[in-house]
Amino acid sequence: MSLAVAHTHEEPVNPAQKALRHVFGFNAFRGQQAEIIDHVIGGGDALVIMPTGGGKSLCYQIPALCRQGMAVVISPLIALMRDQVEALRQLGVRAAALNSSLSAYDSGRLRQQIRLGEIDLLYVAPERLLLDGTMAMLEECQIGLFAIDEAHCVSQWGHDFRPEYLQLAQLTSRFPHVPRIALTATADPPTRAEIITRLNLEQGRVFLTSFDRPNIDYTIETKTNARQQMLDFLVKHRNQSGIIYCLSRAKVEKTAAWLVDQGFHALPYHASLPTDQRNHHQDRFLKEESIIMVATIAFGMGIDKPDVRFVVHYDLPKSIESYYQETGRAGRDGLPAKAYMLYGAEDIMTLRSMITRNDAPPERQQLEYQRLQSLIHLCLSPQCRRQLLLGYFGENLPNPCGHCDNCDHPPICFDGMIAAQKALSCVMRTGQRFGTGHLCDILIGNRTEKIIERQHDQLPTFGIGPEYNADQWRHLYLQLIGRGLLEMDYDTHGGLRLGTPEIYRPVLRGEQSLSLRTPPALVKKFRAKGSTPGNTTGTFTTTNADNMNDNELALFERLRQTRRQLAKDQNVPPYVIFHDTTLIALCQIRPQTLAAMAEIPGIGTAKLDRYGTPFLTALWE
Ligand code: ADP
Ligand code: ZN
Repeated sequence: MSLAVAHTHEEPVNPAQKALRHVFGFNAFRGQQAEIIDHVIGGGDALVIMPTGGGKSLCYQIPALCRQGMAVVISPLIALMRDQVEALRQLGVRAAALNSSLSAYDSGRLRQQIRLGEIDLLYVAPERLLLDGTMAMLEECQIGLFAIDEAHCVSQWGHDFRPEYLQLAQLTSRFPHVPRIALTATADPPTRAEIITRLNLEQGRVFLTSFDRPNIDYTIETKTNARQQMLDFLVKHRNQSGIIYCLSRAKVEKTAAWLVDQGFHALPYHASLPTDQRNHHQDRFLKEESIIMVATIAFGMGIDKPDVRFVVHYDLPKSIESYYQETGRAGRDGLPAKAYMLYGAEDIMTLRSMITRNDAPPERQQLEYQRLQSLIHLCLSPQCRRQLLLGYFGENLPNPCGHCDNCDHPPICFDGMIAAQKALSCVMRTGQRFGTGHLCDILIGNRTEKIIERQHDQLPTFGIGPEYNADQWRHLYLQLIGRGLLEMDYDTHGGLRLGTPEIYRPVLRGEQSLSLRTPPALVKKFRAKGSTPGNTTGTFTTTNADNMNDNELALFERLRQTRRQLAKDQNVPPYVIFHDTTLIALCQIRPQTLAAMAEIPGIGTAKLDRYGTPFLTALWE
């Protein structure tokens, strides 16, 4: 590639800095990147634990370019490889993927290139790597580095377990002098320890960075009118890419169809869709700019799309770990992104019965219950969400973050002793077997058919709680469950019964106060006339539009148009041309020459050569 364009910054001397500047177009390393890269270039083994979007790829891509020989990157999914290889080629790097999707001819040609030393980074799936033929070929080449991406796939208890990952330990004996770097975004300590033992990384260094994702805003709400709440959220994110997670396949289908009716570009994704349809939906999500993917957790790993602006949990996730991993898929590009979760008592019930139904050993089930309980605590707590999340991963955030729902609108707590007494006695009077819906009707004094049939209007608790509406009572019941005063009975389809006596008795006897969150006011109905949610006319509502003036916004649209066209011509996702961050910087800085353009983050030498002129034209046309 040509390095003809002079940068105005002082020319770096260190090869890693040079690669960062000229190949990737960035001026400075982030966090521990420099230290990790130095360590690996020097031949050390490493385990890198960094949140999604933290910048893991550079930690092996730069050593791959700086060390002698070819780097082999082990990656679990073909889609993930394809994306990364495409992004590297756009940067002018000689990258390729060896996998089953290659024809015999292409695979032969690639082997030839590898033998001739014409490949710098080779991506390969573990099962392919472990074939005798592949190993033999690699033993004949000079290998500079092994990078093991998504290293948590070695963990047997994890959702992403891949048995072939266990065999990667043999790399140590077959290539004793080649450094290995393993990377993951999974934070929990047992998984970390498992990776180290299973991959023989005991001699290596562990680099653990902060898990904070400062550009993600967290909001967690109870479901009152879930569809309406979702619409209220989505209209604020029109024309943006996002993911909506649902617990079941049926709900995925239903929700996607409903959103399409509302005028959104929504697509379903779950494991029982035919493979080609799944691939097609994933491809559209990657290549278009305003697709909402409605999915089960089958959709996720390997989604490297940088401009996912929101992740919604339409049902409660399984644990805080899952929540954090799933929400982490938003905002990889560092621009503002939203994590929005809705939860209700039914969700807790479904998840708990899923735990009971699976045939894991009792200790394992117990652990799953505890994880669910921690998640419920996160939902109900009035504390800063980020402090709670990071605290869960063992990190201490000294001050509230200032941009989660609890920081923005601190929940008002009140002494809920009386409310709790009413709620609990209603459970007792009805025999500890009814669900919240019926209990709320009794408290409010609704003469429903069920109430009349069971003569529950004769109970002393009938109509004793008119101060709250049904949604508000539901919210209070949830809190009592979360605090252990009540439990759900999974055999009676979510009937409530009394919880731990040491916890509920003092409250029932009036001996102990109980601080509860004030139930939220009802979500306002979405009635904005003339602005139907699906009114998608292509205006820019993304990211820090707040910081851009009208001219910049118009310009941004023009640059996006240019990017769309270039991406379409090559059949690649727009973000492999330039990320939004780069387009925004172009609008704000408005470089007048190619040399000035080279200073913009994300514009390295190869991209300047390929795209400098079309974007300069778009800027000044
Ligand atoms: P991860 O693999 O950890 O999820 P990536 O490697 O995909 O994260 O990086 C996330 C984003 O951050 C990418 O858009 C990448 O280009 C950008 N990035 C990484 N390192 C730097 C850096 N030093 N300066 C600027 N941007 C960076
Ligand atoms: Zn906060």
